[in-house]
Amino acid sequence: MKKLVLTLTLAAAALIIYSIYLFNSEINLDKLNFIHRKIARSVIVSWENYLSNIPKDRRSIVDYDTLMCQLNFYEKSFAERIFKIDPKELGFKGPYYSKEKPGKLIKVESVKVGERETGIQYCPEQSYSDYLLMMEKMKKDIGKILYIDSGYRSPGRQSYLVFYYLTSSSDYSLKENAKWIAMPGYSEHGNPINNAIDFTSENGINGFSDNQTAKDFEALPEFDWLMKNANQFNFYLSYSKDNPFGVAFEPWHWHWEEK
Ligand SMILES: [Zn+2]
Repeated sequence: MKKLVLTLTLAAAALIIYSIYLFNSEINLDKLNFIHRKIARSVIVSWENYLSNIPKDRRSIVDYDTLMCQLNFYEKSFAERIFKIDPKELGFKGPYYSKEKPGKLIKVESVKVGERETGIQYCPEQSYSDYLLMMEKMKKDIGKILYIDSGYRSPGRQSYLVFYYLTSSSDYSLKENAKWIAMPGYSEHGNPINNAIDFTSENGINGFSDNQTAKDFEALPEFDWLMKNANQFNFYLSYSKDNPFGVAFEPWHWHWEEK
């Protein structure tokens, strides 16, 4: 009996030491080790608990420091290590924009598109007014409009999304994640000036929700119209096919840029 207790104690101690070793070991960018996966899931649970207790309309502009304060020691130190990784190491070649807050944000009410809601969105004033002008013209030309599926996202929101997508993927690959979701500070959605908008059609086609692919958005007459006319309204396609930034083709993602 004594021998059994001793064996179990030694096994438990070995497991703890091994877990600490794995926690402190280098982050594998292709595949997180099992302790890093566990901590990543725990980060997302802590953040979701916090976010579910704040008003819905504040979630996309949640502050980075506030979000980090919700984490315990292990979660926080792991999240900080993740956000210290240079995105270039992950194959992302886009520029760093900013973690600054934009001046004035316009609140855009949630819209029902197909079976889902866009959720409340925010846009800097100038890009929003150009968006409205652009939609007026689109409606006139082809009888359709696009809604804002994702507008301004704070670095805090971007941090949440990095962990959300990382923990939703099968192999927890930071490199794979970087093709789809930028690190905080590196997203055009968090750029306070030349902000990006992800569009959705009136019936919910955005190219990435509900098992859709980029081809679904690309096939829309609205996309064809954007390709021909968006530039006149200061909107530019950021990630074309074979873009030099290491980002997947995103026909729904257009950034605003003043001429
Ligand atoms: Zn986007």
